[in-house]
Amino acid sequence: MSRVLIIGSGISGLTCAIECASRGNHVILVSPFPSERSQSVLAAGGINAVMNPDGEDSIKQHIEDTLKGGCYIAGEKAVTGLCTSAPEIVSWLESLGTVFSRDNDGKIATRAFGGQSFPRTHFSGTATGKQIVTALVMEARRLEGFGFIERRFWTDFYSGLIRDGVCYGAMLYSEATRNVEAVTADAVVIATGGQNALFGKTTGSTQCDGYVAGKLFMQGAELKNLEFIQYHPTTIVTEQKKMLVSEAARGEGGRLFYEEDGKRVYFMEDKFGPKGNLMPRDIVSRCIHETGRQVYLDVSFLGKDKIRKRIPEIYDLCLKYKGLDITKTPVPVVPSVHFFMGGFAVDLHHRTNIKNLYAIGECASMYHGANRLGGNSLLAAIYSGKTAACDLCGRKTDAPDFSSEVKTENEKLEQKRKSESRFPVMYVRGLLADTVNSSLGIVREKGELENGISSVDYYLSIADKINYDRSELEYFNYSLEGILTLAKAVLISASARQESRGAHIRSDFDDQSEEYRAATVISYDGGAFRTRLTGEDDYEG
Ligand SMILES: Cc1cc2nc3c(=O)[nH]c(=O)nc-3n(C[C@H](O)[C@H](O)[C@H](O)COP(=O)(O)OP(=O)(O)OC[C@H]3O[C@@H](n4cnc5c(N)ncnc54)[C@H](O)[C@@H]3O)c2cc1C
Repeated sequence: MSRVLIIGSGISGLTCAIECASRGNHVILVSPFPSERSQSVLAAGGINAVMNPDGEDSIKQHIEDTLKGGCYIAGEKAVTGLCTSAPEIVSWLESLGTVFSRDNDGKIATRAFGGQSFPRTHFSGTATGKQIVTALVMEARRLEGFGFIERRFWTDFYSGLIRDGVCYGAMLYSEATRNVEAVTADAVVIATGGQNALFGKTTGSTQCDGYVAGKLFMQGAELKNLEFIQYHPTTIVTEQKKMLVSEAARGEGGRLFYEEDGKRVYFMEDKFGPKGNLMPRDIVSRCIHETGRQVYLDVSFLGKDKIRKRIPEIYDLCLKYKGLDITKTPVPVVPSVHFFMGGFAVDLHHRTNIKNLYAIGECASMYHGANRLGGNSLLAAIYSGKTAACDLCGRKTDAPDFSSEVKTENEKLEQKRKSESRFPVMYVRGLLADTVNSSLGIVREKGELENGISSVDYYLSIADKINYDRSELEYFNYSLEGILTLAKAVLISASARQESRGAHIRSDFDDQSEEYRAATVISYDGGAFRTRLTGEDDYEG
């Protein structure tokens, strides 16, 4: 029996916990909030799988669409594993109680998503994430009842317990005791989602702040493809966040247009034909950006019944946040940061370059290459959780004593509590968001990236002076340096890729280049950032 520490309790963390526990291992599942508050519950449109390979669609086509959508830098072996397992994964979710929408003939329903040759996205209205999380939480609680899973909420990751390239567990920070403790394990799995908080407002959750990736990067873990940041083409901006108008709206037939001289211009259809509105997200966002105008999404012609039945949450969202009835009126949309193709560099088993340390879900970079297809990330979150569990079960490691390190960190925190800060930590996070938004927009350019790197260098240089802000949770204070370091790694990766591919568009390098048909790996060596290129399937953890 192995003792497994999983950091993050969204869909990938829950799946890994269930798989490990079902095999008789002991799992400690850690997150600051319960799974029901994870970003996974926001997932709207659905999960991809070819459930009926004898029909027009095939698993081979799902693989080809995924590789093409990712601009041919995702690994073929990895993507083949993902797409081949998809039907089994959807059946597994159903067996746990996920309720998928069904057609009139009772078959599991499908809808079209961007970049697909055939409709293969399965959904629960536009609340697929909620349905999946609910089913996984019920299963995790059952296994918790049997003593295989221990869930710890209100607990944050602090740092890895790493010696000589081996991970023995993690230091965790409890918001209740305001103390750091060492939790040792035979394997540690990171499942902490994307890097949304770097950008301030996105479609996702600010719980996903990239701190764990940044901190472990500083402790020796390599990261990959950080420059590929997906802008979702259709979001509405509110005071608090960017709200996603799911691709389901276009999957059901929704059309994008702008107005010129009082007439509608259906620019995506003009450029790409009838399937234009459902081009992959990188292409749609770039086209919207190039119009330089306010773009609208129209679904009104679908009729009230279809809208209320197939995309009810989108109807509610637009009414609630924009006061717009989409059965009658088009909704103004803008592209916003939505998903991170980059993250921990992992091999086909989801091992990182640090022994016994795994990464899964959105925080791991795999499967999506330069651009993710809608419906593939829920699939990847589940597939990666299962893959890591298969590999790590049975591991045994004797952990050295970390008590003196823990004592030092608790003393450091105590020391910082006494110091006054000249700069509130959230003010610096705001400055960081302004910096990354202006340097890492839909279209990037050398000068802006260099300015971004200089600004982050400055924030890092004053990080000591902004160590403690009493008005915020202590987590926000201690996480700042890791978050800033991650931001610098993203900017350096974007600077290093001198081509335009997928979600990384450079105005100074307009074309794709054969030289860069590979993944960017970045490592941190005593403060120096080093990048190199590698084939995704060839990465060795
Ligand atoms: C609005 C929206 C709609 C989407 N719709 C779809 C869709 O229809 N189909 C699809 O395939 N994909 C969709 N996605 C993407 C998909 O939902 C995510 O990629 C996926 O759910 C990520 O799951 P995860 O388990 O990797 O991470 P998350 O669900 O983000 O979970 C991360 C976990 O890590 C924890 N955590 C974070 N930091 C720390 C820390 N410091 N210490 C401890 N724990 C920490 C969090 O609390 C959380 O429990 C959507 C995304 C968004 C934002």
